Order: sequence, then C-alpha cells, then structure tokens
Amino acid sequence: MEKHLDRILEHNRSFVEKKEYEPYLTGRFPEKKLVVVTCMDTRLVELLPKAMNFKNGDVKIIKNAGAIISQPFGSVMRSVLVALYELHAEEVIVVGHYECGMASLDADVMISHMKERGISDEVLSTLENSGIRLNKWLRGFDNVTDGVRNTVSLIKNHPLLPPNVPVHGMVIDPNTGALDLVVEGYENK
Ligand SMILES: [Zn+2]
Repeated sequence: MEKHLDRILEHNRSFVEKKEYEPYLTGRFPEKKLVVVTCMDTRLVELLPKAMNFKNGDVKIIKNAGAIISQPFGSVMRSVLVALYELHAEEVIVVGHYECGMASLDADVMISHMKERGISDEVLSTLENSGIRLNKWLRGFDNVTDGVRNTVSLIKNHPLLPPNVPVHGMVIDPNTGALDLVVEGYENK
C-alpha cells in the first residue's frame, strides 16, 4: 500500500513555511450564506467550487457518498442545521452528480467484498439481528435526480428546519461542471 502520510507532512511543512495559505485566509461564516450538500466524488473536489463560483470562505460544503441524507437525525442533517442556526447560512443546495457511484452501488456485492476482506458472517448476522439492515443502509438510489429530490424533501420536511429556508436541488456533470436544476426552493419567485 502506498504511504501518503510522510509526503503530506513534508509538503505541509513547506506550505506553511512559504505562507502559501495566505490567499485562503478567510472567516468561518460563509460569505454567500449557503450550505451545500454534495458527493465525495474525486472529480468534484476542485470542479464543483469552480463551476459554482465558490472560493474559500464562501460556503459550507458537506460531503458524503452520493450527497444522500438518509437519516433525519444523522450527522449530515445535523451539519445542515448547525450551518443554518449557528453559522449564518440561509439557503441549502443539494448537488448530486451524473455517473455517481451510489447509483450503481450493489449492496450485496459490497457485503461480499466485506467478507473477502475478513468481516465474518458472525459479525454480519449479529448486526442484522440487532436491527441494522445492511442492505438498506448501504443502498444509494436508482437515479441521481430521484436521489437529489429525496434528499431535498427530507431536508425540507425536517421538523427542525427553520421556516422559510429555501432548499434547492441540482445535478452536476462531473466532466463539464454543467448544472441541471432539479428543485428550485424559492417559494415566492
Ligand atoms: Zn457520487
């Protein structure tokens, strides 16, 4: 396995020494007052901020596999609420992307990979017996547009969402950065 840690630390010493952080100095409140929920896809690391014109300091970005919020009281929804209540964000944008791995993720295949990597049947059945439906938990969505719609509606219908917060949904092309609007969250246009 390639070891990244030494190279990261070495780069980091020179990054700090040469003050290469200076162009990125900013505050902790998002200037554009936005919180974005998106996917951890590698193609979006730099492309999404460029395509949406976000620079350091502009937005809160929350990432996971698929830009999915499946648990109303999980950590992603908590992050959205923290951004809205404590960090001055005023709008939410969910940004899924085409060719998302969570659209094709096969939970059974992933469970078989877990077994190949040494997770025992006993562990898996203990989890199932304690009520954790691995298949359901691992599942993504059939198509990204539905995935975005579901996440937007989970946020929009959350009992703790501050009233009148617009929640938008978009799908980005991971190659060109082109955005398709799926849900426009403004109530009075
Ligand atoms: Zn993805």
